[in-house]
Amino acid sequence: MELPRRLSAARAAEIRRRISRPPAHWSLLAFIACVLVLVAVVQGLTEESVGQSRTPASDARSPLAGSDPVLTGEAGRLRSRRLPPKRVALTYDDGPDPVWTPRIARALRRLRVPATFFLVGSHVVEHPTVVRNLRREGFELGNHTFTHADVFGMSQMMRRLQLDATENAIAGAAGVRPRLFRPPYSSGPEAITPGQERALARMTGEGHVVVLSDRDGRDWDPGRSSAAIARSAVGGRSRASVILLHDGGGERARTLAALPRIVRGLRARGYRFVAVSDLLGVRRAAVDVPTTGWERLRGRLLIAALTAAHWLTTILMALLAPIAVLILLRAAFVVTLAHRHARKRRALPSDSSFTPSASIVVPAFNEAVVIERAVRSFVASDYPELRWSSSTTDRRTAQRASSRHSASSRCA
Ligand SMILES: [Zn+2]
Repeated sequence: MELPRRLSAARAAEIRRRISRPPAHWSLLAFIACVLVLVAVVQGLTEESVGQSRTPASDARSPLAGSDPVLTGEAGRLRSRRLPPKRVALTYDDGPDPVWTPRIARALRRLRVPATFFLVGSHVVEHPTVVRNLRREGFELGNHTFTHADVFGMSQMMRRLQLDATENAIAGAAGVRPRLFRPPYSSGPEAITPGQERALARMTGEGHVVVLSDRDGRDWDPGRSSAAIARSAVGGRSRASVILLHDGGGERARTLAALPRIVRGLRARGYRFVAVSDLLGVRRAAVDVPTTGWERLRGRLLIAALTAAHWLTTILMALLAPIAVLILLRAAFVVTLAHRHARKRRALPSDSSFTPSASIVVPAFNEAVVIERAVRSFVASDYPELRWSSSTTDRRTAQRASSRHSASSRCA
């Protein structure tokens, strides 16, 4: 009974050694697997936009009912800025879009109308050149979260992550850190609840200016024509300061077609188009703060890392189908050959006296456990024509295993 105990002790020691010092290829595989999982998680978290645009219904009990739509922080509280009359800012949400944002920007330049674009960070990562061009053409940039997330339904940490990641992406793409922020799924101040007011107060306390709207073009509604969008944006006799439109999140041909009517309609009523910074009476650099070299580099690294993650997951997804097909083909091939082999074996005449010479070849390299098992199997076999041969490249290991087995056999 000495032999099994000694062998199992040797095997346990080998297993312990393998766990504490795994072979290099296992460490490499584990590292690659960890990287791929991390890339997939990052990709999943950053690339998916959450939900579609909509405008919440107004609430008569809102603490901000009757306020102007641009909010700043003062002594830990939200403060609605009194906006100048007959000045209106056009704002576009949910971009950048590679098709519609440049077209809308071109139409705005032709009409000599400034505008502010509230950008979704994950789209900035995909289309940094569009953002760079917007900045170069003189448009203001704002933060609209990284994944178009409802900032009122998440923890403060996640909220900060959404805003910081977008800020970094815009810094990398255009060299500015936007201070203007618009929460997704927001509309006018009258729709803000007391809980949302507290969350907005925290954001303004961190240096952001919250830009809501007091006129909604309702271009997120797919059933509305360009004329209807223009009518909603121009509105009736009530005062307009900030108009909400969209350059991303879908096909924006109707929004683009409505623009000349909106501009004509509001100019006819004596309005002048300005940027949000003009409404606030501050310089452009106060709302789009130029970045330092390190901030810009950090933003570019973020864009590069997320772009690499995007391509890596795209390639992996593309490879998934051919790999699955190859596995199925291999399985079918093995089953076919096994079936054929079994049929051939059954067809052979059975002769119990037929005992050809056989060899056991042990593929061993520093594998004491494998050699031990082979030796044990060899000794236990009653096959008459069995001969021992070893392919080991480490003869000392084989000799050690053989001598250990001989010693064990003598003990037994
Ligand atoms: Zn939005």
